[in-house]
Amino acid sequence: MNKYVKYGIISAVIILIIVVLVILNINKNNNDQKDDGVTKIVTSFYPMYIIAENITDGAQNIELVNMADVNVGCLHDYTITTEDMKKIENADIFIANGLGMENFLEKAIESNMDMKVIDSSANITDVIQDEAETNAHIWTSIDNYILQVKNISNELINLDPQNSDIYQNNTDTYVNKLEELKTRYLEELKELNGIKAISLNEAFEYMGKELGIEMTTIETDHEESTMSAEMLKNIIDKVKQENIEMIIIDKDDNESNARAIADETGAKIYKLNSGLRGNLDTNAYIEQIEENMQILTQ
Ligand SMILES: [Zn+2]
Repeated sequence: MNKYVKYGIISAVIILIIVVLVILNINKNNNDQKDDGVTKIVTSFYPMYIIAENITDGAQNIELVNMADVNVGCLHDYTITTEDMKKIENADIFIANGLGMENFLEKAIESNMDMKVIDSSANITDVIQDEAETNAHIWTSIDNYILQVKNISNELINLDPQNSDIYQNNTDTYVNKLEELKTRYLEELKELNGIKAISLNEAFEYMGKELGIEMTTIETDHEESTMSAEMLKNIIDKVKQENIEMIIIDKDDNESNARAIADETGAKIYKLNSGLRGNLDTNAYIEQIEENMQILTQ
């Protein structure tokens, strides 16, 4: 056999072997999603991430990813991006707030049929609803938040039993801290029971309910939608007529409407934290409630 032909055959065989190995590897990666031993947990947005972080602290073989950037804030007006969709495509578990907050969920499930979805709002009974909308901002009530923590934890224990002890211990520790916080919160803010307030941000409706505040909530999509002059006038009239003393907004909200109402009526503006943005520390939620407590005791 000619020397060159021999080298040609050897080269062809080597190339063939490489091609076969590459194809095998691609297939392996495709099938690896569930078999790599790592459970990929994706949370929809910031409040869910803080809960998951607390429950999964120290867990083995998991990867925890937050889908929406923290700066997105609420998922209400959010449209899912290609980049965020990618984070869901190979997830094993997706943690959603529920109550319609994740309007992209159907699309996400279609893109990853094997993914298990945890709905944190299951078992929450005091959902606030009007004809038009369900208020999904349940976490601003500590009681609801504790239920969300427990719901997520129970599901994680079912879906990832190898970490069940860690999940259970972390949940017990976190819930104890939250219960202690709630006791302090209700005690320190008990004078707010029966007080009239107006909130220009619907996220605080559950907070108001928990504290017994007689709250009128104006739905403004977190102060992003514009308020007509007529609506503003109606609110000012209401605040005057009912002697409402508190105007509640989020610290990140545009203050102009609240300022206009305050100037006309003498009511005071309270800029609170609705827990939609913040640092990624496990204690972030607790600190945000403490921050609100301080502002509200003034
Ligand atoms: Zn919202």
